Amino acid sequence: MSQTIPYKTYLEESEMPKQWYNLRADMKHKPAPLLNPATLQPMTLEELSQVFCTELAKQELDDTTPYIDIPEEIREYYKTYRPSPLVRAYFLERALGTPAKIYYKFEGNNTSGSHKLNSALAQAYYAKKQGLKGVTTETGAGQWGTALAMACSYFDLDCKVYMVKVSYEQKPFRREVMRTYGASVTPSPSMTTNVGRKILEEHPGTTGSLGCAISEAVEAATSQEGYRYVLGSVLSQVVLHQSVIGLETKAALDKLGVTPDIIIGCAGGGSNLGGLIAPFMGEKLRGEKDYRIIAVEPASCRSLSRGKFAYDFCDTGKVCPLAKMYTLGSGFIPSANHAGGLRYHGMSTILSTLYDEGLMEATSVEQTAVFEAATMFARVEGILPAPDSSHAIRAAMDEALKCKETGEEKTIVFGLTGTGYFDMVAYERFNNGDMTDYIPTDDDLKPGFDGLPNVNL
Ligand SMILES: *Cc1c(COP(=O)(O)O)cnc(C)c1O
Repeated sequence: MSQTIPYKTYLEESEMPKQWYNLRADMKHKPAPLLNPATLQPMTLEELSQVFCTELAKQELDDTTPYIDIPEEIREYYKTYRPSPLVRAYFLERALGTPAKIYYKFEGNNTSGSHKLNSALAQAYYAKKQGLKGVTTETGAGQWGTALAMACSYFDLDCKVYMVKVSYEQKPFRREVMRTYGASVTPSPSMTTNVGRKILEEHPGTTGSLGCAISEAVEAATSQEGYRYVLGSVLSQVVLHQSVIGLETKAALDKLGVTPDIIIGCAGGGSNLGGLIAPFMGEKLRGEKDYRIIAVEPASCRSLSRGKFAYDFCDTGKVCPLAKMYTLGSGFIPSANHAGGLRYHGMSTILSTLYDEGLMEATSVEQTAVFEAATMFARVEGILPAPDSSHAIRAAMDEALKCKETGEEKTIVFGLTGTGYFDMVAYERFNNGDMTDYIPTDDDLKPGFDGLPNVNL
C-alpha cells in the first residue's frame, strides 16, 4: 500500500475543539419545537428545567447560537481519550479490492467503548454545576449507562440507570462495569416505578425497549429531590455535544487535504451521525460544499425510511415531551435485534428535518449482513466493532463495492462508534449460524402508527 496518507491521523491536544457546533443555527427550517404533552404548547425553559438541568434545557432550546464553548473541566477529561484517531482503512480497501478511499473516525477508545462519553461528560458536568445530587437515565445496549457511570464518578454524582431488560440479561459484564463506576442498575421494565408496573401489566414478559426505560428514568428523576434526567441520544443537546466528532474529523481531513464524497453513520436516535455530519452539513446548508450523507438503520427498526414524520412521544410511557420526528410510534417495540443502541422508535428532530428536506439519505441493512461486515472488518482492521457501528461498516463496504464496479475513486468517511467486546453473545449466535433477520411487516408496524398522538400542526 502506498502511504502518502498515514494509517492513523491524530490531531494535537491543542487542536481539539474548544467549542461545540450547533448545526441548528445554520438550518433555514428549524426542527419543530418540543411540545408539552399536557398542553400541546411548546415546552418553555421553565418546564424543561423540571426534567433536565437548566443549562442543558437552554442548549436544547437554542437553535440560533452557532458555537457554544466547551467548559474547560469537560475538555480536561476529553483529553483522556480525545482527540480520537481518524483511520485510513487501507486493509479494508485492499480486502475489498476497491479503488474507493475509506476513512473511519474511531470513537471506541475509552472504557465505555463508544462515542456516548462525549455527551455524558457534558451532562454530568452541568448537573454537578447546578448542585444536584444525581441523575437518572436509561440504557439500551449499555454503552450510554457505562459512559454516564464514568462521567458521574468523575464529577462525583449519584447515577441511577434503568437498563433494557434484554440487555441486562445478555450483558452482565456491562452491568458490572457500571456498578464498578458506582452506578446502580435496574432492569427495565421494573416494579420500582408506576410506569414500569403499568407496562409490565400490559405487556407481561416483555424484554423492554429504550422507550420503556426512558419513562422509568424520567419518573425516578422527577419524583426525587435533587435529581434530573439525562438522555444519551435523540435530543438536540446530545447532537450538539457529539459535534466534537465531526469537528475533529473535519480538522483531520483538512490537514490531510482530503474532501469526502460520502459520509456514513449508523442511526439509532441520531446522535453520532448528527455529530459526525454537523460541520459538513453546515457547509452544505450554507451552500459552500456538497456531500452525500447516509444514515444506516437496522432493517428491523427503520425510523427514517419506514416511519412517519409526525409529533410523537419520545418514550413508551408518554411522560416525555412530544417531538416532531420520523417515528415508528412510541408503542412500537422492536424485535430483539442485537444492536441494542439502534432499537429506538424515533429519531433526532434535527436529522428528521434534514431527511425530510432531502439533505440526507437513509438506508437499512439486515443483521446477518451486518455481522458479516463486522467479522471481515475485525479480521483485517483489527478492531472488534460494536454491532451498532457495524451497520455503518456494512453500508461503507457496500458503497466501496459499488466503486469497484464503476472504477470510481470516491472518498468515504464513516463513524466507527464503538467496540463490541460486550456483544459476544450476538457474535456467538452469528458464529454458530443461529442469527436470524426479522423484518417487521406493515401489519407489525400498524399498531405503532395507530398510537401516534393526534396533533397535526
Ligand atoms: C448508542 C450507540 C449508537 C446509536 O446511537 P446514536 O445516538 O444514533 O448515535 C451507535 N453506536 C454505538 C456504539 C452506540 O453505543
